[in-house]
Amino acid sequence: MTSQELFRRSIQVSPGGVHSPVRSFRSVGGTPIFFKSASGAYLYDVEGQEYIDFCLSFGPLILGHRDNEIQEVVQDTIGLAWSFGTTEPYSVELAEFIVAEIPWIDKIRFVSSGTEAVMSALRVARAATGRDKVLKFDGCYHGHVDSLLVKSGSGLAGEASSDSAGIGKSFSKNTLVLPLDNENDVQTLFEKHGHEIACLIIEPIPANYGLLIQRKEFIEKIVQIAKQNNSLVIFDEVISGFRVGMKGMSEEFSIKPDLVTYGKIIGGGFPVGAYAGKSEYMDMVAPSGTVYQAGTLSANPIGMRAGLATLKKLKRDGVHQALKTKTESFLNRFVSILNEKSDVEWDASFYSSLFWLHQNSSEPIRRIDKIPANHKENFAKLFHSLLKEGIYLAPSGYEVGFLSTAHTDDILEKTLTKVKKAIS
Ligand SMILES: *Cc1c(COP(=O)(O)O)cnc(C)c1O
Repeated sequence: MTSQELFRRSIQVSPGGVHSPVRSFRSVGGTPIFFKSASGAYLYDVEGQEYIDFCLSFGPLILGHRDNEIQEVVQDTIGLAWSFGTTEPYSVELAEFIVAEIPWIDKIRFVSSGTEAVMSALRVARAATGRDKVLKFDGCYHGHVDSLLVKSGSGLAGEASSDSAGIGKSFSKNTLVLPLDNENDVQTLFEKHGHEIACLIIEPIPANYGLLIQRKEFIEKIVQIAKQNNSLVIFDEVISGFRVGMKGMSEEFSIKPDLVTYGKIIGGGFPVGAYAGKSEYMDMVAPSGTVYQAGTLSANPIGMRAGLATLKKLKRDGVHQALKTKTESFLNRFVSILNEKSDVEWDASFYSSLFWLHQNSSEPIRRIDKIPANHKENFAKLFHSLLKEGIYLAPSGYEVGFLSTAHTDDILEKTLTKVKKAIS
């Protein structure tokens, strides 16, 4: 069976042939590759081809595919139960670990995706403040929550327009949207609407529209403005949580958000999300409080135990510092190899083990309107020449790349050799 054949079949039975849009290769052109197995830093497609994976399931696999220790835990758990729908010890252990690790979290509730985590956190923020409006930033992705699938409207500052069909006006009406990197806009908006804003939500390191690294002063200022207006601050750390360090971007910025959302890494590659925060907010959630939120497969034992084993290993092995150093030197060399031959002048933004390739820009790219023109087309060309050599990046110029502990020095050297070949 070839990828071509599978795609033809898949198109018949699923919209666009996929179960999440980016997987379709629409952004880079061509037919998506169908993979049948994975191990460490490698993906294997249905035709037996091997690829070095820098997409890593869009972030969860910080230890690479099927890390031995995690695999043991998963196999052990499968022999115990697949799902309980009751209370069990595994979620207690993961919750205790996270609460102990992150000093400003008192309580945590597990759900099954990042989207669910964000949706629930917004509900808590609205209940806690008795306010309806939410402020988000253009270029930040928070899952496919109705009220957050919005972009800036063309009219008044802060006005939102829906970014997907099928979202009633009543959903986007209560969402305000501002560009990143401009604290004055936030100040002005809060002067006008502060008393209506339940919360500000932000990816403290926006990593879903390229990697838009924010100034610390911007983040500090907007948090201060929100607090002055008694609006809650939600840090969406679904991608950054346990990726940039054990305590996430909140620690990098020395900020204690009121609520935080997690996903990706905390499930060790299984579908797990979570929202967390101080007791005063989390105790508003049912059955302690009146904010309803539930889930049939919530705290699935395999996800709980794979997640805990992953977090413990990250901590025990002090993984983050090593990954950061490795990413920095790898990306610097990657870019200089690209620039030996390419007609585009490439650059990379990177932070911890997250990276984003883009054309060189005269100033740091902190908001979406600063992304160089032709980025999409240039990335598509680069993507396909790397793919041909067996390097798998996420199939969109707006997705970030990741390194894992499975990306050994040898594998990274091998990658750079392939990059050289790809551009020649
Ligand atoms: C991936 C992501 C989400 C959505 O998580 P899903 O598990 O895909 O629903 C939300 N917020 C951020 C910052 C993300 O990176």
